[in-house]
Amino acid sequence: MKIRKVPETHIEGFKDLSINGETFEYLSPKNVYLPMQFPSPLKELKSVGDKVLMGEAVLQREGRFAIPVLSPVSGTIKGVVKRWHHSNKMMNMLEIENDFKETVVDDFKNLDPDKMDRHELVELMKSSGMVGMGGAGFPTYAKYETDKPVEEVIINFAECEPYITSDYTMVKLNPGLFIYGLKYLMKAAGTSKGVIAIKDKDINKPIIESLNKCLMDGMSIYLLHDVYPAGWEKYIVEKVTGRTYKTLPIEASAIVSNATTCVTFAKLLKYGLPPSEKYVTFVGDSIKTNGNVLCKFGTNVTELLNIFGGLEENTDRSHTNFIAGGVMTGGAMFTEDFVTSPTLGAVIVLRDKLYDKVTPHCLGCGTCALHCPVHLSPYEIKRAMKTGNIEMVKELEVNRCIQCGLCSYVCPSRIDLTTSIQMAKELVRRMG
Ligand code: SF4
Ligand code: SF4
Repeated sequence: MKIRKVPETHIEGFKDLSINGETFEYLSPKNVYLPMQFPSPLKELKSVGDKVLMGEAVLQREGRFAIPVLSPVSGTIKGVVKRWHHSNKMMNMLEIENDFKETVVDDFKNLDPDKMDRHELVELMKSSGMVGMGGAGFPTYAKYETDKPVEEVIINFAECEPYITSDYTMVKLNPGLFIYGLKYLMKAAGTSKGVIAIKDKDINKPIIESLNKCLMDGMSIYLLHDVYPAGWEKYIVEKVTGRTYKTLPIEASAIVSNATTCVTFAKLLKYGLPPSEKYVTFVGDSIKTNGNVLCKFGTNVTELLNIFGGLEENTDRSHTNFIAGGVMTGGAMFTEDFVTSPTLGAVIVLRDKLYDKVTPHCLGCGTCALHCPVHLSPYEIKRAMKTGNIEMVKELEVNRCIQCGLCSYVCPSRIDLTTSIQMAKELVRRMG
């Protein structure tokens, strides 16, 4: 078999902007909003006017990986309203009015993870509706509910996006909880080996030193090269274990979980706190203060923006981009009036200048293909889309795109290849 190496591309980082910025907590929003149609239509478990506790199931994700969606606050179901989701889609959301009492359901009280077996820990992941907080939002239990042997749990602490420091902040402020979480993720996986995969770069040195001091038996730190996309699961698994896989890490006897997910599991086990909060990075040249805020899932971004002092004076909104998620993998929003979720890592507000308009003529340089980690030909896919040649789009294997955004980043003509490829991928998916 011919094995092609993943190209290792270094990209410029801007993490110092938020690492050296402010850290806030905003855990008492007046209302929270939970999507009722994402990633697919959810079943309503509560009616308007019902009282709910924090951690009570209010919606149900159905299908193969069914999990409940829990209320992040205690309060009352106020209604169903249309709101913007950070995938740039307007959708129905369940509005819950906070009673500010933070009354938590009994289900997660007095847990003793030392007395729980592997299956009970996985069941807890399921009943608490835990999802991966690195971006994909895949139900956590589905990774750990396996009868295949697991060699190691790998914590993905690469946080590849150049502006985002939400995982960094969560772990920096909770190193003990992070290690505690890893201990029980290892137990849930039935392995005695846990590896923290983090990029080897100056900005990470203090956190690496701090974690090194509290590692427990069977745990180690793996230093990744400072390349993009080092946070891609396939890349991490191959680097850490030397093994490869086709579809899922478990084929290579590994389970990969995100760093914030690990701390969230620890908070559930240790404090009985249901998954309900995460750090979101607010950063960019148009925000008065840069930094991170610990907030409830479903909080209005406009409220959070105010905590950071709002936008800079004289911000020209027609030349300002609100990016939900990272600059590489996120998307420009039509509005800042959207809500947070377990998978939103950042809100980035940048003036147009970073998107300097260059005449978008393809130079035929091949740089996009050279840097594509899965060895696609981005420009050819874009051209096939433009001419409506869907058969060609399929032949070019657009379905293998991991939507890393690197092709757009490296293109000297600043051609937005990623959006075209996302559209092509969605089109091919819909066509079955
Ligand atoms: S990197 Fe840009 S200019 Fe070069 S081949 Fe790809 S699309 Fe064309
Ligand atoms: S976005 Fe897709 S096509 Fe572009 S570099 Fe990443 S994997 Fe390749």
